[in-house]
Formats: sequence, C-alpha cells, structure tokens
Amino acid sequence: MALEDKRGKGLSFTQMGIEDNSMSNGRGLPDQWADTVVVRPRTTERHITVHKRLVLGFAVSILTLIAVTAVAVLLGVRFDECSTESVHRAANGTSTKSNQSRDSQSNHREEDTQPWRHVRLPASLRPRHYDLKLSVYMDNFTFSGEVNIEVECITSTRFIVLHADRLELEKAVVYSDSKKPGVMRINRRFSYPANQVYVIALHRELKPLRTYKINITFEAQIENELLGFFRSSYVLNGEKRFLAVTQFSPTHARKAFPCFDEPIYKATFKISLKHDSTYLSLSNMPVETSLMDEDGWVTNHFARTPRMSTYYLAWAVCNFTYKETFTESGVVIRLYGRPNAIQRGSGDYALQITKRLLQFYEEYFKVKYSLPKLDLLAVPKHPYAAMENWGLSVFVEQKILLEPEVSSFSYLMELTMVVVHEICHQWFGDLVTPVWWEDVWLKEGFAHFFEYVGTDFLFPKWNMEKQRFLTDVLHEVMLLDGLASSHPISQEVFQAADIDRVFDWIAYKKGAALIRMLANVMGQSVFQRGLNDYLMTHMYGNAARDDLWNKFSEALQREGKEINIKEVMDCWTLQMGYPVVTISKNDSLDNSVIISQEHFVYDADAKTRNPGVFKASFQWQIPLSFSIGNSTHISPESIIWISNRTESHKISLMDESMWLLGNINQTGYFRVNYDLQNWKLLIKQLLKNPTVISVGNRAGLIDDVFNLARAGYLPQNIPLEIIHYLPQEKEFLPWHAASRSLYQLDKLLDRTEEYSLFSDYVLKQVASMYHRLGWPNSSSDSSVMQAVYQTEQLQREVLMLACSFGNKHCHRQAIALISDWISSNKNRIPPNVRDIVYCTGVSLMDEDVWEFIWMKFHSTSAVSEKKVLLEALTCSDNTYLLNRLLNLSLTSDLVPDQDVIDVIIHVGRNPHGRQLAWRYFREKWDILNSRYGEALFMNSKLINGVTEFLNTETELSELKEFIRSSGGVAAAFARAVEIVGANVRWHRLYEQQFYQWLRKSPNL
Ligand SMILES: [Zn+2]
Repeated sequence: MALEDKRGKGLSFTQMGIEDNSMSNGRGLPDQWADTVVVRPRTTERHITVHKRLVLGFAVSILTLIAVTAVAVLLGVRFDECSTESVHRAANGTSTKSNQSRDSQSNHREEDTQPWRHVRLPASLRPRHYDLKLSVYMDNFTFSGEVNIEVECITSTRFIVLHADRLELEKAVVYSDSKKPGVMRINRRFSYPANQVYVIALHRELKPLRTYKINITFEAQIENELLGFFRSSYVLNGEKRFLAVTQFSPTHARKAFPCFDEPIYKATFKISLKHDSTYLSLSNMPVETSLMDEDGWVTNHFARTPRMSTYYLAWAVCNFTYKETFTESGVVIRLYGRPNAIQRGSGDYALQITKRLLQFYEEYFKVKYSLPKLDLLAVPKHPYAAMENWGLSVFVEQKILLEPEVSSFSYLMELTMVVVHEICHQWFGDLVTPVWWEDVWLKEGFAHFFEYVGTDFLFPKWNMEKQRFLTDVLHEVMLLDGLASSHPISQEVFQAADIDRVFDWIAYKKGAALIRMLANVMGQSVFQRGLNDYLMTHMYGNAARDDLWNKFSEALQREGKEINIKEVMDCWTLQMGYPVVTISKNDSLDNSVIISQEHFVYDADAKTRNPGVFKASFQWQIPLSFSIGNSTHISPESIIWISNRTESHKISLMDESMWLLGNINQTGYFRVNYDLQNWKLLIKQLLKNPTVISVGNRAGLIDDVFNLARAGYLPQNIPLEIIHYLPQEKEFLPWHAASRSLYQLDKLLDRTEEYSLFSDYVLKQVASMYHRLGWPNSSSDSSVMQAVYQTEQLQREVLMLACSFGNKHCHRQAIALISDWISSNKNRIPPNVRDIVYCTGVSLMDEDVWEFIWMKFHSTSAVSEKKVLLEALTCSDNTYLLNRLLNLSLTSDLVPDQDVIDVIIHVGRNPHGRQLAWRYFREKWDILNSRYGEALFMNSKLINGVTEFLNTETELSELKEFIRSSGGVAAAFARAVEIVGANVRWHRLYEQQFYQWLRKSPNL
C-alpha cells in the first residue's frame, strides 16, 4: 500500500476526488444519492426483493439489537456482582495479584470455551478454497453473494468462527467431508460484533484431518465509504458514471464476504461476478468464461487464484476502457481508466514503466511474476495512493495518470515511485506475505526501499537510492524516531481497530532505512541471493522477520562470513529509536579513538522522567563504516562493529591534521558525533574543498549537526559554522538537507526578538548561489527529465530559501511575475516555481492579489494547480483574510475535504497565522475530530501541523490543558507534548548561546 507522501516544502500532491467530492455519509443510501443516481430504466423483480429483504433484515437486526442489549444489561449486572465478590475476596486477605491471575486464567478458559471472544481467530480451522459468487446491483448499490468455503479441521471444535462485518447473513449450511457426506446440524449461529466475527455453533464436533464445506449466503451495501466493496463516481460527457471497487487491506475483506480475514489464512479463490452487461468486471485473475443472460446480465467466471491472503483479493465493476502491453515472458499488462483519459494517453507512461518494472523485478529477484496478467486500475477516489492487489492493483488517478505537457517534474517523480512501490509488492506482500500485521514493515519497508532502487533502474541519472533517499526517508524518519514517544518498528497488534495504526512512517521509512543498512553491510550480490532464497522458500506462503534473517545469515555463511543477522536486527526492530555514535580521539594514546553509543532523543529530560522506559538495555549492534582524510584525499572505508556502550579502537595512519568521518554515504540508521576538534577539521575541509567528502556525506553531516545541536549534544554555533560552506556547494542534495534543517530552526526562531540576525545570516549564505543560478525562464520544459533534474531542483531550492528568508531581489521578481499574470491574464510563471511565486506574492502584495488567486483557485480544473493556489492563500499576513479562509474551508464545500487539514496546517506555518490556527484548531476540534478522526493519518497530521510551532511555556500549558479538557488520547497528542516541551527546553537552554554566536560572528 502506498501512503501519501510529501517531498519537500510546498511540494505536495495529496489525493483529491475530482468530480465526486461528496462526503462519505456512513452506511446506507443517503438522500443525496436518491437524486443524483443516474436512473436506469431496468428494475428487475430481483432488485425489489433485495430491497425488501434489506428492510426486513434491518427490522430483524433492530429487534436482535434490543434483545442483545437486554441480555447484556442482565449480564452486566452479573459481572458487577462478580467484581464486587473479588473485591471482597481481596479484602479478606487473598492477595490481589493471585486474584488477577485467577481472573486471567478464567478469561483464558472463557476464550477456550467461547473462542469468538478471542481477538484473533481460533486456529482450529484452516480455509483451503473459496468459491465466491456475487451479484452486483449498480442501480441501488447493493450486492448479494454466496460463498462456499472448503476448510480443513486442525483441532476438534464445535465452533466455526470467521470474520463478517456489516453483512446481512442469511443462510448458513455446513457439510461434512466425503467419508460421511451430509449436512451438519447447527445448534445456533450469531454475530459477535466486538471482534467482527460470525459464529456457527454445531451440535457435533468437527474432527482433525477432515475437511468440511461451509456455505453462506449474504447481502450488503456497496458502501459510500472507501472501505470493503465501495462505490465512487466520475463525469463523462456531462453524465455521472459510477464504479464499484474493493479495498480490503488491512481488515475489510470481511465487509464484502464472510472469510478468515487474517493474512496467515491463505487459500485459493474462484470468483464469479454477475452484473448488468453495460459494465465490465475485473478481478485478480483473468476471466475464464463469460455467460450472457437474456435479460442483459452477464456473469464473469474468473480463473482460480494461487494461494493468497484475503487482504489483496480484489474486484471491480466499471465502464472503463484500457490500453495494453505485454512483457517478453507474455504477461498481459492493462491500464484501465475513464475512457476520455485513456483516449488522451494519460495512462501510457505508467503502462510503459510497469512493463519495464516487471522485467526488472523478475531479474532482480530471480523469481517470475506469478500471474498471467496484471491490471492497473485508475480510480477517481481511493483511501490510499494505491493498493497492491495481486494482478489488479488500484491507484488513485493522481498517482497513475499523467499529462506530459502540464504535469510538473515532482508529480512525475511521485507517480513513478508509487508505481514502483506497488509492483514490488507483487513479490513482497503478495507472493510472500507477512505472518501478521506486527511485521507489516517487512512488506512496506521493502516496497519503500525499492521505490528508490526501481526508480534508479528507470532513470539512472536521478540517483535516488544514493541521494534522495537520505533527505526523504532517512532524515525524515530520524526526526520522528528521535522522540521518546516513538515506538519499535515491530509492534504487537491484535484488534482490527489497531491494525490501521501500524501503517505509519516508522513502518515505511524506518523499515526502508534498516533494509538499506543491511543491504550495504551484506553487499549487493549476497543481499540479492538472500532475497531470492527467501522468496523461493516462502512463495505462496507466509513469513516472519526471523525467516528473512535466517536466509540472510545463510547467504552470508556461504560467503564464509559469520554474522548472526537475527541478533543484529532484533536490536533495531524490537527497540524504538536509534543511537548516536560519538567518536573522539584518545589524547593519551596515539592513533586511538574512543567510540561510544547512546540512545538519541531530542528531549534529554525524557530519560530522567521515564527511567523505566530508558533502562540500561538500550543498546545496538552498529556497523560503523568510516574513513580518514586530509585536505585532498580520503581513505577507502573500513567497517567496525560497535556493540558495547564504549569501545576503544586503533586507527592506523591517523595524525593531528587528519579528520575522521563515520557512516560513509549515510548507509547506517544512526547519527554520528565527534569531538570538537574533529568538527573543526571537517568544517575547514568543507570550506576548502567540499568534494573530497561525498555528496551523501555532505548532506548527512548537515542533517546530523543541526539535529545534534537541537538536542543539546553539540554547541549551537557548529551548525551555523558548517553552512558557511554552502556558497561552494553545487549539488542539490546538501542544499536540500540544509534547507530542511533551516526551516526546522526557523519554526523555533521566527517569533524571537533577534530573528533578523538569523535570517540575515541565512540570506548571506544563499546570496551568491541565488545570483549564480537566477530564475528559470518561463519556457523551461518540465518534461526534460534526465540531465537537468539536479539543476532545476537546486535552482528551486535556492529560490525558495531566498524568497522565504527575505531576499529583496527574489521578492521583486515574484511581484513582477504576479503583476504580469494579473495584467496580461496569461500565466507565464514556470510550473516548477509557481508555489514560491504565488506565496511570496500573496504575502507581500495587497488584498486584490489574494482575491485574484482565490478566483483562479475556483476557475482552474488542473488538480495540482488548484492545490498550489489554495496553499498560496494561506501566505497572507492579513489575519482577517486568513480567518475567512479557515471558515470557508470548513463550512463550505468550496475546499475539498482532504485539503481542509492542509489549509489549517499552512495557516499555522505562516507566523501571522500561527495563533489563529492554534485557536481555530481548539475551537473546532469536535467537528474536525468527528470528520477526520477515523481517517488514517489525517488526525495526527493535523495535530502535529498546528502544534509543532508552539514553543513557549504558556503554549505548552495551553496544549496540555486542551488535551485534558478534550479527553484526547491519540498518540499524536503525546508526540505533540514532547515536541513542544523540547522546543521550550531549547529556548530555555540554548537560545542565548545561539544568538550570542551570531552577534559576534565575523561572517556577518
Ligand atoms: Zn505498500
């Protein structure tokens, strides 16, 4: 699954529905649909009965609910009695502890006798094959189905427990196997909604080693919510068209049919879809036979799938058209989308790279693609950027359709990486599947890592894995994982509600960073052999992290290297955070250094506040690569393993004038600190001749030094001294690392009295490069993707720094470009810098410009342009306008739902809007929480966005008070308190030191 990503400030392409911006209204057919549904004249008898049955089913479920509530009330009374009794026992001298263990024993007994109470499915049955037949009614958005599940009994049981959620279950029959064929008598059947399961209790036990068949019929809605089997719409030739598609990951297959909805329960599937023949249907496998009915209905029978999990099963019913291509090995690749987009060729780019990528992965993994076809489906609305369903991957249109003439470079890059990600999952995730969601990072970390490797295959000059990976993945996730409120990458989860939670940046980005570290330690060819062995051994099955570690250890062993990968990796995956490695020269011993490790946290006080969490055991096995160098030369890298808290090592050929550099090319997931003398030598080296140090390490030094100073590991002048070399820096990556760090610092400083000391210092470092690179001319062609990418990105980065820190020339240029647009009504601003120009114009020019941009926001239909215009509106220094924008966003449908949060966050980024956004957030919390609380990421993105700027004691107590009064428990709130606490702490301890150096700096 690919999540929304942000690459760089102001460069965001969040998903948006294009035509259909209607809010999901929960379940049922809301009124709005009654009017907007395209009326189809054919209403068969069957549909009417479905409707009646639904109504009847609803009435029955209400009655059931009343009955269940009554029973629950009675039971509740009984449970109360039980707990009173246990309190009495405790008071009578029995220790509470033994009572607790007795209680938990009785819970276990209860789960044994009532297995549906357990949050995981009981392991007594295993599905082998599903026959699933569905009839899909697009005119009233319902479907009915029949599933036949062949199960094998593992341990004897009287209960069949499987997942079912929001389904109207009708008939259930259980057949015994061939030895004694016949129908098994059912004692009772019932739902247990707490665990989203359905239970069939039999009179007789099912016996081990025998197989049974479960037959269930059911009905349900095609939801107006982006989960399970859901609908969405688009407009073609002025007419609204509908489509229905599935999103089952991680726990929503159970909303479309009763099934064993955990990844470990792999089975084969045979799917049939019956629908109006004006639609076509797709599923993981190709259609085997297609039968037309007389009444204009068609039934597509799809070929049997290989063994697979439920979460990447998929189907779709739509009016799309397609283009196709074939790989050399004969795999058919089709891209399906709305007819006008396909005709325009918007899908051609994705289709072509998919063909190349399938061949790339087949060669890299040395494992063939498993299915005869791969369909890519471009849908107008989807909860994620994309989903890797095996043979039928689904993408939101903005991540797969491309108009080469108008799409910017970053749009193309983002889209490419999403496609690379999903194709990787056809092996990592689909062919070999994690045993359980705690190891979701195994598939997501790999797919995220391969985004960079696969994109390098397509565009070798982009140099993604060696460069962009550092700023976009490594530096990004180390910010998050450096918090005391972080969590280990492998985290235990049980309940369906918690499973969404494990899909976070720690799983994706830290996963990718750890895999990259391991690949570098092992060496490319050994790494590839280990992966091949892992895939070959576990194909069509499941695997846990230890299975991968074992394969890697074996691959190393064959090379004569004894490294226990499990032992190494356990300390990286089971502990949260990462170490800072400090290398200092040992003055008393020649050629010798002392190397120590400790857990890096931004808020050092957290360690004393929570000694329980930060007990002595936080220690890592660190593959530390290093080189030594002098003004003209750097030694080849060596590697040492650091596993103790402090170690002493001898470094040959080291003398006074030589510097030492650790973590070569930043392949390791840790920070490196040095003694001050070594920092001085490195700074001198950068000033004199930066290219002796690699591009990756220059970016790495910048990111490390700013973050070490921020957390108090280094004096505040060191980062300022290091960026003094920037005028010599000609590469994009170190500039990108520097600007990311400077914006972080800017958030801390922009309300301080002496702010101009800081902004002047930054401007001075930027000025010469700004003048050298200048502005892109309006005719620059964004489709030139290869050679000029680095230069264009660098130019953009420097322009953004110049304009946002107040370079007068940059301001004048932006104003001139906007004025030209207004007077000529022709937009000649190069797409690559439009966000910078719009924002600068709105912040410096009068209200009319704001109104002009607001008008353009309404009139443009290009999705990416709309987004840039909206964000520009948040740059105004007029609080009246900002307030108006906030209110319009939330209360009108002028701003698409997904963008409301971005508006609030961007207002908060504007120093003039900060207080406003923070107050607005608190006042509207109830509305915001009810609207976005369930949506993955939205909530934490919002909470982080409006709080990360807070940095005074008063604001910290306001935040705490708000959390207390609103009852907020989200992990994002704990993170916010920690970040704001660290901000306050930085001001208390370091602000003076920081400005003192700037005041004295001879460079000013
Ligand atoms: Zn993914």
